[in-house]
Amino acid sequence: MANLSLRHIYKVYSGGVRAVSDFNLEIDDKEFIVFVGPSGCGKSTTLRMIAGLEDISAGELYIDDKLVNDVEPKDRDIAMVFQNYALYPHMTVYDNMAFGLRLRHVPAKVIDEKVQEAAEILGIKHLLERRPKALSGGQRQRVALGRAIVREPKVFLLDEPLSNLDAKLRVQMRTEITKIHHRLATTFIYVTHDQTEAMTMGTRIVVMKDGIVQQVDTPTTLYDNPANLFVACFLGSPQMNIFKARLVEENGELYAQIGETNKVLIPKSRAKRLIDTSVIGTEVLLGIRPEDVHYEQMLVEAHPDSVINATVDVIENLGNETILYLNVEGKDDYTIARVNSRYTFAQGDEVKMYLATEHAHVFDPTTELTLMGVPDYNRIPAQLVAAEEGLCVMFGDTCIKLPETVVSRITDQWAINNKVTLALAPGAIKTEEARGENDVLIEGVAEFFDNYPRYKAVYATIPGAENYVIAARPLDYEFVGGEKINLYVNPEDVQLFNESGERIVADKPVTYNATSGTVTEAAQVYSYKFAANNGTKARLSFSNVEAGLPGLATTTEEDRPIHILSRGFTIDKNDISKNSKMVIVGNITALDEYRRDAVVTVAASGFDEPITAIIRDFSGYNVGDKIKLGVNPGAVKVGKHMTNAEAVVAAQSEGEIRYKEIKAAREHERELENTAKAAAAKPQKEQAATEETAAKKAPAAKKPTAAKAPVKKPTAKKK
Ligand code: ADP
Repeated sequence: MANLSLRHIYKVYSGGVRAVSDFNLEIDDKEFIVFVGPSGCGKSTTLRMIAGLEDISAGELYIDDKLVNDVEPKDRDIAMVFQNYALYPHMTVYDNMAFGLRLRHVPAKVIDEKVQEAAEILGIKHLLERRPKALSGGQRQRVALGRAIVREPKVFLLDEPLSNLDAKLRVQMRTEITKIHHRLATTFIYVTHDQTEAMTMGTRIVVMKDGIVQQVDTPTTLYDNPANLFVACFLGSPQMNIFKARLVEENGELYAQIGETNKVLIPKSRAKRLIDTSVIGTEVLLGIRPEDVHYEQMLVEAHPDSVINATVDVIENLGNETILYLNVEGKDDYTIARVNSRYTFAQGDEVKMYLATEHAHVFDPTTELTLMGVPDYNRIPAQLVAAEEGLCVMFGDTCIKLPETVVSRITDQWAINNKVTLALAPGAIKTEEARGENDVLIEGVAEFFDNYPRYKAVYATIPGAENYVIAARPLDYEFVGGEKINLYVNPEDVQLFNESGERIVADKPVTYNATSGTVTEAAQVYSYKFAANNGTKARLSFSNVEAGLPGLATTTEEDRPIHILSRGFTIDKNDISKNSKMVIVGNITALDEYRRDAVVTVAASGFDEPITAIIRDFSGYNVGDKIKLGVNPGAVKVGKHMTNAEAVVAAQSEGEIRYKEIKAAREHERELENTAKAAAAKPQKEQAATEETAAKKAPAAKKPTAAKAPVKKPTAKKK
């Protein structure tokens, strides 16, 4: 029995193949975790790193809270069952199972007990005296499992153990392995490329693609709430239909326009889950599963607004159901429907099909991320202001003062006293009972919630934010719709994006890429020669005076402080070739990636501390790799760098002015809100008074019910 923790695990094979990137997972004791994904996505590599059969290139692996990166496989208390299980052909089943224990000098009596017990669990007691060649494939697989079971490992690792079996046996062994997991009550990690195995066996599934974890959740959540197009299409057979569609709003209702001729209504219950309403009016990808494409006339008639016209092309009658391959105007590939097999169809039939859009998925066509679900960050437009003797993130009525630990990780000093986007992970927003000591309160209104297997997603409106803010709460959290909700944010959890959309709070405190050296100019060629205390040296030079540097010294002066702004680097080969002498070469010591951007830490000659380079569209490098960084001449600064803390102090006087302006503007906004509210409340009061009189006259009359929470958030008033 064990829990495992995989933290920022990378695997890079010699030759530079990055098989696994930034794998993070907490596995609880007794879980049945399945790694699934297409061939080559890094499943086996991850499993082999857990077993200790592959070195971990970067990151940490803990088993029962003990760091095991350098622990020998045999000392990890893990048993692994492979696809090509090799039983010893000259030994009986009993001896095959006892072999490992005998090697460990376990007393014969104990071995016998364990072998008998395992044989009992696996239902192979009657086979103990047979040799492997006298066993069927399934029986052999059971013996291979038995060899693992007798060792009573903390963790079972299974690598495609069923793929050599025929289809029928595979189905049978699937249930058996699930049963064994229940009986042993041990942590299982199971690798498969087969989505059906994953869906039927896992308590949680890790979906991988190209070495990157796409989503981790229970089978139902992955199926119902896929985080991106890949997960949506990988799970489910036949796979989800994806329509190119345009979202349009008409009379307060949301529709998806497919091609020229088909338009379907997305019911409010589903439409309110759209996490970014700015996509209304744009092209999106609409996902509908084959079981949500209905032929039943009753359903078609009941939902005239969600019906499409289609032509039957291929009919597959499977006996219990029929799979229809339909042509739909505006969709290049088939639209697949699973319908009742009692209907008969002929090729060329014109049919009307009801799309059950209450289960519709919507994906961003560029990022392929879901637009209906829980985002990785709630994004709230805000201002980053140097005020209150520190640095504050301001929006609505909220002012989050950032602690020194966050300030030190900010990678863009230009963002100070500028607009930013506050990014808060749903899990980072707490409610009353979970609040921490230093948490900042945001008062919101709870609107509705979604139940996910492991948490409840609470959608709230908060002052100053246009979209819903989603907080992930425990499942037993008691939700009251339409009521005030206190949301708490730990300032340590704050992430920020600057106006260019770059993530500007790094994982670790930034370095300032400072060193010292000599600045010279000769015939309009500027050169920096610098040396670190550790003896390493570097030289940068450029002749493009147009890129001219303010205050650049033209006289030789030794030992001047020099620093390079972390956003002044490039890995683009074209840019580098333009200034081929402005290049720093070093080795990557750490990577902090988000989507395509990365904070890259590099140990380079001429610097005592590793330098920080922030690179857009980063790819193709791994921790440990040599990297060539082009340096923008404008990013080399002569003179002492300003730390973030110093920059915040320097920005205070301007910040205080901004701070007051923002407060005053908000005050004005609130007054307007209050006036509007009062105006809206007046007729209601009058109405209530009339009804009260009426109620007195007729005591049986019903009390008016409270207004329901609005479905769509009213757009914020402009300042
Ligand atoms: P999966 O188990 O998902 O099919 P693997 O973990 O076996 O994938 O492989 C992931 C990637 O790593 C693949 O691109 C594969 O070619 C590569 N790879 C696996 N083993 C090695 C190795 N020993 N040397 C170099 N590349 C490897």
